[in-house]
Amino acid sequence: MTSFKRVGVVGAGQMGRGITEACARAGLQVTLCDVSEDRARAGLAGVADSLLHAEKRGTLTPEERAHALAGISATADLSQLAEADVVVEAATENEQAKTALFRQLDKVVTDPAAVLASNTSSIPIARLAAATGRPQAVVGLHFFNPVPVMPLVEIIPSLHTSKDTELRVRAFAGEVLGKRTIVAQDRAGFVVNSLLIPYLLAAVRMVSSGTATADDIDTGMTAGCAHPMGPLRLADLIGLDTVAAIGEALYEEYREPLYAPPPLLRRMVESGLLGRKSGEGFFSYRAA
Ligand code: NAD
Repeated sequence: MTSFKRVGVVGAGQMGRGITEACARAGLQVTLCDVSEDRARAGLAGVADSLLHAEKRGTLTPEERAHALAGISATADLSQLAEADVVVEAATENEQAKTALFRQLDKVVTDPAAVLASNTSSIPIARLAAATGRPQAVVGLHFFNPVPVMPLVEIIPSLHTSKDTELRVRAFAGEVLGKRTIVAQDRAGFVVNSLLIPYLLAAVRMVSSGTATADDIDTGMTAGCAHPMGPLRLADLIGLDTVAAIGEALYEEYREPLYAPPPLLRRMVESGLLGRKSGEGFFSYRAA
């Protein structure tokens, strides 16, 4: 159904690494791109580590790991994505930066039938599509963290996305990567974040108002509602900067106070307390 063989992934952070790993494990050639060679190489090293863990857990044979790793290259040069059949943009959640990236990708990717997908959590796909001369080939492909583990991918066609593009990425996510897919309209937050983010922000407000400690709030939801993870550890896992950025985008779209990032979250982000990826958020992740 899909002829995608060469995948470009832009952004070698936690999501870009996960998407790279999932694609490489499915036997695809992946070029992972970030703003500097150092970041791109760090991304590749992160994927290599994760593949090694998968081998140690027995979910991957040594041959499969070697084959997946051999299919990945890392670069800071976006033009290396020229031959890609599909590009998944997973750069920092910033509309200006993503719009600029889509403008560049439109120039760089040579096949007019190639799909330009974004892993954005909240930015309308139509705005990214408008930066290109091929809005019919631009679509949202929203993975969940950690990508190799989480089964869901949201597919978000904009008003301009062609049915062919939508069906091809659906087959890519479903048949090639083995994910479950749902289709959501092009509204900030799509399905999952529209429901999840107000809940996470309510937990931050609870910490801020002193209703309970972060640990007790999380225990309330794990022990009381059988959630696998409490809201504050989940916010730390997502990244507090990403949670704040999604909240801002939802607030801009709907103007509902429940989406507005509370002051405590903003201060933590401004102070570099970003959760797991920085080692410190509502909880500490530094080795004792
Ligand atoms: P991250 O901060 O871990 O990584 C972002 C990476 O993008 C960084 O390595 C940065 O250097 C790179 N980058 C920034 N500008 C770039 C550019 N112009 N070209 C190439 N690389 C660039 O962030 P993340 O958590 O991986 O999130 C990435 C995207 O995925 C965001 O749009 C976010 O909303 C979305 N997303 C995140 C989650 C999550 O749980 N963290 C889940 C689903 C979707």
